[in-house]
Amino acid sequence: MRKQIVVGNWKLNGSRALCEEFALGLGKFLSRESIVGELAICPPAVYIDSLSSAMVINEVNVAVGAQNVAAQEKGAFTGEMSAAMIKEAGGSYAIVGHSERRAMFGDTDELVATKAAQVVAAGITPIICVGEELAVREAGNHLEFVGQQVSAALSQAQSATLIVAYEPVWAIGTGNTANAAQVQEMHEHIRKVASASVNAELTPILYGGSVNPSNAAELLGLPDVDGALVGGASLELEKFIAIAKR
Ligand code: PEP
Repeated sequence: MRKQIVVGNWKLNGSRALCEEFALGLGKFLSRESIVGELAICPPAVYIDSLSSAMVINEVNVAVGAQNVAAQEKGAFTGEMSAAMIKEAGGSYAIVGHSERRAMFGDTDELVATKAAQVVAAGITPIICVGEELAVREAGNHLEFVGQQVSAALSQAQSATLIVAYEPVWAIGTGNTANAAQVQEMHEHIRKVASASVNAELTPILYGGSVNPSNAAELLGLPDVDGALVGGASLELEKFIAIAKR
């Protein structure tokens, strides 16, 4: 059985107060409701330690992760944060290859593969993001494009345990969610391509791109969708809870 997981990506948002609010609020919610599999939150790096400590102190079963990771293990790389450091701070996951990092911070397919391998080597789980720009989809090349991203990102994976997140760039932060047919078609394709490198039947494939409480149930109910990567809606406790609720 593949696990289901809903992951919040806070991006460059949040505060200590939001970490406290989520730890307490999710604790209360989880004590009385059942959810879609597991939950995780990826706050800005500086809050990984305090958010994971707050989860532990309040006995809340919600994992914490990073939004990015260094491609190196250690050394003279000012401003970077290694996968081992993320793990030591209480992180269980690290997002790699988010489209914002690919577009604004030079994360190439090769770098994404190296980062994912660093995360695996540290004993935590990479959440590898892939997804096409609108022009690629309009030209009808989306399956080929995303398939290549997946092959490249998994090129150093060697049967590792990992998560893939399909996030069409045109759906991120726009309110334009991909429709059920588009999502299912792509997830099935990603699973096929991933099977060359990992046990794809056991690899969760998340959908991300304007997931909200109104569209979550339909998307999470698709056969090859194993959860969601949620940006904007993960900053509001009520919305995050509504997405995760079974
Ligand atoms: C994201 O940035 O990973 C994301 C899916 O954002 P949003 O949910 O806001 O579209």
